[in-house]
Amino acid sequence: MASGDTRSETHEFQAEVQQLLKLVIHSLYSNRDIFLRELVSNASDACDRLRFEALTEEALAPLVSDLHIGVDWDGDARTVTVSDNGIGMTRDDVVANIGTIAKSGTRQFLDQLTGDQKKDAQLIGQFGVGFYAAFVVADRVELVTRRAGEPEDTAVHWISSGDGTYTLEATTREHPGTDVILHLSEACAEFADRQRLEGIIRRYSDHITFPIRMPALDDEGNRKDDEFETVNRASALWRRPKREISADEYREFYKHIAHDFDDPLLWTHNHVEGKYEYTTLFYIPKRAPFDLFDRERDMRGVKLYVQRVFIMEEADKLLPRYLRFVRGLVDSNDLPLNVSRELLQSNRVVDSIRSASVKKILDLLEETAKNDSESYATFWREFGQVLKEGVVEDFANRERILGLLRFASTHSEEGVQTVSLDDYIGRMREDQEKIWYITADSLKAAQKSPHLEYFRKQGIEVLLLHDRVDEWLMAQISEYQGKSFASVAKGDLDVGEDSDGDEEGGSDLAARIRAVLDERVADVRVSKRLTDSPACLVLGEYDVALHMQHLLRQAGHYVPESRPTLEINPAHPLLQRMEALGDSERFGEWSELLFDQAVLAEGGQLEDPAAFVNRLNGLLATWPEAGPGRAAGASADAAADDATDAASGEAQTEEAGGAQAAAEEAERNREA
Ligand code: ADP
Ligand code: MG
Repeated sequence: MASGDTRSETHEFQAEVQQLLKLVIHSLYSNRDIFLRELVSNASDACDRLRFEALTEEALAPLVSDLHIGVDWDGDARTVTVSDNGIGMTRDDVVANIGTIAKSGTRQFLDQLTGDQKKDAQLIGQFGVGFYAAFVVADRVELVTRRAGEPEDTAVHWISSGDGTYTLEATTREHPGTDVILHLSEACAEFADRQRLEGIIRRYSDHITFPIRMPALDDEGNRKDDEFETVNRASALWRRPKREISADEYREFYKHIAHDFDDPLLWTHNHVEGKYEYTTLFYIPKRAPFDLFDRERDMRGVKLYVQRVFIMEEADKLLPRYLRFVRGLVDSNDLPLNVSRELLQSNRVVDSIRSASVKKILDLLEETAKNDSESYATFWREFGQVLKEGVVEDFANRERILGLLRFASTHSEEGVQTVSLDDYIGRMREDQEKIWYITADSLKAAQKSPHLEYFRKQGIEVLLLHDRVDEWLMAQISEYQGKSFASVAKGDLDVGEDSDGDEEGGSDLAARIRAVLDERVADVRVSKRLTDSPACLVLGEYDVALHMQHLLRQAGHYVPESRPTLEINPAHPLLQRMEALGDSERFGEWSELLFDQAVLAEGGQLEDPAAFVNRLNGLLATWPEAGPGRAAGASADAAADDATDAASGEAQTEEAGGAQAAAEEAERNREA
């Protein structure tokens, strides 16, 4: 349908929009004031965009001189109108921007909602309420908009009652820009009032850089014809001296620039003078966005201004990828106003701003880690995984970033990630040279790993790494503060202490098991690591951990075959019993079992799970557990039956109490 058509058309909101709208209306009712903040914020963005386009499109240049936002009201008609003479929208823009949500992760977001209004309100804030906040106070919302650079009669009139549909019709508008007209619900009539509106603007929108104008009143409170007052400060907040800006002002500005509903977690504001002059204001949000790990996600977040003029938002040249969670702006005096993306690619000014900005953000994080552990814990929970990317991405700052990482460890409570490498080094034993760690696919798996037995016994701290990126991360780094990293599950256990001598006894057994397992293992040797478990697998220093091998293969990656070393604990009863077995078929079976269970303990995948199950069943059926912990009753019965059958075929029926003796006898018969 051509945009000149005046026919009124009814459209349906995208299903996600409908759902979101309902939630916005219900969850934000106690926070109704913010509708104005959102609409003013959009009007300000629209002015920014026009000013930016006018830099390159001469036809738009005359429109820039008087950019402003208007807020008006009508108590009798119960309306509030927010206007701007910014960029405006075409019909297609309206359909795309107001009727649909293009954000990735919308579905997942909606699935996350709980129905609990308080919790959902927070989630919605994080998602961005934006324009839909209008429906919190209005029964009906009208929008009249005309795109700058398009003729008068291409304007669009949009109306909706927020009930699932909207209508669109063509109209005319004298100037480019947008009016949003709110028909207030009865309960929200209070907002059609000068003082009320002005109060909200001063509170939430003072930082908006364009003037926000309201009709001027005379002493009797009547409107003066064509006279307006600017009710906000209308200056660039970031250019003001830091000491003059209140925390609340910083917070409100964040909500505008980051399109976030929530307060920021941290911020850092800097005016730099010297070779180059610029201002940076960076914020760290309280929560990670949904698409933080989305590869396609662009690096919106930090806006570039030149001499207070908004230039562009996709400022991925201003910060490295691993800081993509940072929001805020850079305002430079040295870049040309017509700066292009290409120019940003390789520009000395930008390079200098970028490296200084990274330092400022790392400063902020270090300071927070030191002085405000609660905020730092929040930061770490939300963005720690992304920061880890920096260890590899930003070589120049590697040591600093490593210092900011937090880990769970055998010495931290409940496995929370609170241990820094400096903490670790501070607690190292005198004779300890390495920073020990283990990687696993879950915290539990890490905590339960047999590889930790030795370290637990010795009281040596081990970092428990269980994030997916950890295996990759550890492959990239070798040391911190001169201390090298070592996996407790890889390579020779060089703990800097003499601990051999007494285990020599098992080497014969190791050789026998090795003969069975043959090429599946690089070696079988007596372990220094184990105290409680019968066996474990040890990888080569540069091998990928088994749980990761499995994941990588599943994801279609090629992972070279690496043969692990099986370490055995000859003191373990299982190994002692094996020792007593001759080189029989059973010895072979048990060696296989020993190997397979070690693979499982590492989170690895068995090559032949059915064979494992068969062997295990065979073992359970024929060899009841010795000693006090044995299972009584049924299993012992079954074992006894099986054992006696296997032994001689004689039908000996025993009661449970005698079952074990019978089974053991059967065992002896069989071995003989
Ligand atoms: P956000 O501001 O986070 O993008 P909103 O819901 O507030 O989300 O607005 C959705 C989109 O509608 C904006 O991105 C913009 O493209 C468009 N829009 C809203 N208000 C205006 C306006 N006053 N002028 C021009 N475009 C607007
Ligand atoms: Mg908005």
